[in-house]
This record gives sequence, structure tokens and C-alpha cells, in this order.
Amino acid sequence: MNAVLANNVIRKFGQSLLGELITPTDEGYDMGRRVWNGLIDRYPAMIAYCSDVDDVIKSVDFALTHGLLTAVRGGGHNVAGNAVCDNGIVIDLSRMKRIEVNAASLIARAQAGLTWGEFDRVTQTFGLATTGGIISRTGIAGLTLGGGIGWLMRKFGVTCDNLLSAEIITAGGRLMTASAVENPDLFWGLRGGGGNFGIVTEFEYRLHQVGPVLAGTLYYPAARVRDILRFYRDYITVIPNELTTMFVYMAAPMTQSLNRLHFDGPVAAIHVCYVGPLEGGVKVLKPLRDFGPPLEDTVKIMPYVELQSMLDSGAPPGLCNFWKSSYLNSFSDEAIDVFAGYSESITSPLSQVHLQHLKGAVRSVGEDDMAFSHRDALCVLNIVTKWENPLQAEKHIQWTRDFEGAMRPFSSGGVYVNFLGDEGEDRVKAAYGSVKYGKLIALKNTYDPTNFFRLNQNIKPRGAGSL
Ligand SMILES: Cc1cc2nc3c(=O)[nH]c(=O)nc-3n(C[C@H](O)[C@H](O)[C@H](O)COP(=O)(O)OP(=O)(O)OC[C@H]3O[C@@H](n4cnc5c(N)ncnc54)[C@H](O)[C@@H]3O)c2cc1C
Repeated sequence: MNAVLANNVIRKFGQSLLGELITPTDEGYDMGRRVWNGLIDRYPAMIAYCSDVDDVIKSVDFALTHGLLTAVRGGGHNVAGNAVCDNGIVIDLSRMKRIEVNAASLIARAQAGLTWGEFDRVTQTFGLATTGGIISRTGIAGLTLGGGIGWLMRKFGVTCDNLLSAEIITAGGRLMTASAVENPDLFWGLRGGGGNFGIVTEFEYRLHQVGPVLAGTLYYPAARVRDILRFYRDYITVIPNELTTMFVYMAAPMTQSLNRLHFDGPVAAIHVCYVGPLEGGVKVLKPLRDFGPPLEDTVKIMPYVELQSMLDSGAPPGLCNFWKSSYLNSFSDEAIDVFAGYSESITSPLSQVHLQHLKGAVRSVGEDDMAFSHRDALCVLNIVTKWENPLQAEKHIQWTRDFEGAMRPFSSGGVYVNFLGDEGEDRVKAAYGSVKYGKLIALKNTYDPTNFFRLNQNIKPRGAGSL
């Protein structure tokens, strides 16, 4: 904590908020400082639970006046733990959850503290949705600002493609609107540039008609991982945009019925979501059902909100997490061998390796149209390593690093910013490529020249006075 910050100054600030200010001696502090990744253990000097835009402006002003390191929290899910800091202030938006749906114009206005589960529940009462994350507890804020890949992306684009405008508090404590017509340069940067340019208090999204979906998981024996991947590689080249799929190598199955069959070893799984006329979906999924046959097939017609929490049990909060990710443009036999070899030596029963297939409507927006990048990639590889005992970190982290290193020759060199850990400037640059990274630096120079918002996948301003 800033040593010169007297208790009465902090108290006065707390009293000025409509929301609540929590300090280390308050009940709820320990819960409030925890984020989804259990490896992150930080102790902020205060947590400002904002209730409205005015609270956010006051919190930014207070942090600026007293030179406090500032973290911004939406859903608290980012694996790097940037939503919390040591000593400084956490500006926490998780209590700002207003959402309004205009079903006639297919638009939702949503405050930044919502999770995808909360957002989907409301929009689905109107039979509407937009592309969101695949775990219902993930915050809409961090995910949207980094891009947003999910079950609807091949049909409707990534989340930020569906962003129409945002209300944002800049580093000067000023409320601005960013959209295609108001401050379009800022709007360009917000759609993929993460939390670098300010605190978004409200997002406006385009919605789509999304009825029940044909979705679930096909599980196959892990021993067949090479065959399955070769099959999957060909399969995804012929599927329509209505179908989004994800291949997952799991150290242990996520299904109780497989457990009941005493199948507690690793499995290879393909999660699917088909959004469209259901008869068409059954036909498109047939090759997956014929291949194998699967050990288990949970695919059925389900409400979209059920799909959106289908994988929640595999991503509980509080576990130690270390991820390594990159984009792949192709998937050769050699890459499959490396992928399978490392998967087979997985070190924790909680870990998974994901391959999320992209293309489809992800490519319908131009590469230069916004900060979100690498639209040509075939899929995202994410090595999602999880374990319980923090003392075992070294072994699991080493496996993850080795795996990622071995896959590097097959990577496009790019990375999805929302899956980055604390990996340094070169990796942030890799998320955008050098030309777009240069444009983002120029934008940072304009909107946050002192790097006030630096607890993020940071784009450093290049100028006098920057931190
Ligand atoms: C279990 C799990 C599942 C995931 N699934 C997906 C997925 O399906 N698709 C996908 O694309 N990504 C996914 N992600 C990655 C996810 O997009 C990022 O972790 C994202 O940062 C989460 O947003 P959040 O608001 O929950 O995170 P937070 O940790 O609260 O925020 C992350 C960062 O975003 C910025 N930020 C947050 N709120 C604001 C705001 N209001 N204004 C400005 N900046 C802000 C800050 O820089 C903050 O450090 C997943 C992550 C996890 C842990």
C-alpha cells in the first residue's frame, strides 16, 4: 500500500462510492482478492466494488491522484491474474450487471460486470444470443475486449465482431463512447486490444436468433488419438459454418457415465455445437458418429444456455492453472504425432489440451478492420494445465512449456491474446503482428500515454512520461 495514504483518506473515498470499498481488514477481503486461477495470490490495498459509472470515474480519479497501481476486474477469469494486484487498487465491476435487450432491433446493452451465463440467460428469454465464451462464469468484459471465441463464432463471428459500441472511462477519468461513428480509432483498438485503453462500463452487442442447438460431446478412446486427429483434420474442411467444433484430449473424462463404466483413463473428445435447422445438423454430425464408434455420444438438442454451461465442471475456480497457446494454420501428420506424444505424457488428471477450430464467419471480417488478429488461422491450440497442489507446479509447468516448444514449428507464430499468461512483450506483439502492434502503440499514446492501465496484456506507450 502507498505508505502515505492515511486511513481517513481511504475512508472518505469509500464513503463517496455508491458501491463498497473493501480493505484488508474487512470481511470479504480474502474472497474479493481471489481470481479464477488459484496460482495467483495477490494482496491489493483496496477493492472498489463499483455500482455505477460515477463510481468507476471516482475510482480512476482516486488511483490517479494517489499514484496507485490499478487492476480492473470483470469476471476475474484471465489466467495471467491481471484482475488483481499487490498493494494497489482493484476497480471491480462485478456488481454492475444491468442488461437491456431490444428484441425488435436485436441489440443488447450490457454492463461490464456480467458473466456469459448471466448475459445468455437474459438474451435467451427472447430467443437471442451473441457469440460468448464456452464457460458460463467467464466475464463478458475481458473476453469481448480480447476478441471472444465461442460456439457461435463460425456462424456469427467472434464476440468483438458483434460489438456495436462501448462506454469507456479513459485514463483521464473521462467518459467516452466508442463506435463506428464516435471515436472510431478507439473502437478499432477496443475490439481485440484488451483493457489497454480504459475501463468499459457498458457494451452494446448485436444479437442473433438462436433457438435450441444440437450439441454435446463425442468421446473416443485416447489410444486412437492419432487416427481421430487425422480424421478431424479432414472433417473440419468440409463442415458448414453452422457447426463449431473443438477437439480435446482429456486426462480423465468429464462424463459420469464413462466413469461408471470404470473408464477413468484419458479420452479424446470432440465437442460440437450446430446452430441451424436440426435435420441438417444430424446429417453433418453423422461422420463423427460413424467414425469409431464413440465410447459415448452425449449430443442432443439442448437449450443454448445448457450448452453454455456444459463444460463448466471442467473449469472450476481455484485450481492452479498454467496455459500455453498458439494459432495453427495447418495440422500435418508430424504435428499430430507431436501433439499425441505430449498428450499421452500429460502430468495431471485435471489437464486438457484444446484445439478450437476457427474459420467460417471468423474470416468474414477483414484482418485490418479491428485489433483482433489472425483471422486466417485454422485453429487455436491451448494447453490447459491444471493441478491442485501448488507445490507440484514445477513438473506441470515444465510439461506445458515442453509441449508448447515442441509444437512451435507448426504454429503460425500468432497467439490469441485472451489465452496469454504473463509471457512478455514479444508474445503480446505476436497477438497482433508488428504492423497492428504499431497502430496499437499509437492508440495507447493517444488514450493512455502514461500507461495508467498497465495490468493487462500491455501495449506500452512510447513517449515521455510513460511508465
Ligand atoms: C475457464 C475459462 C474459460 C475461458 N473460455 C474462453 C472462451 O470460450 N473464449 C474466449 O475467447 N476466451 C475464453 N477464456 C479467456 C477469457 O476470454 C479471458 O480470460 C478474459 O480475460 C476473461 O474476462 P474476465 O472479464 O472474466 O476477466 P478479468 O480477469 O476480470 O479481466 C481480464 C482483463 O481484462 C481487462 N478488463 C476486464 N474488465 C474490463 C473492463 N470493464 N474494462 C476494461 N478492461 C477490462 C483487464 O485488463 C483485465 O485484467 C476463458 C478463460 C477461462 C479462465
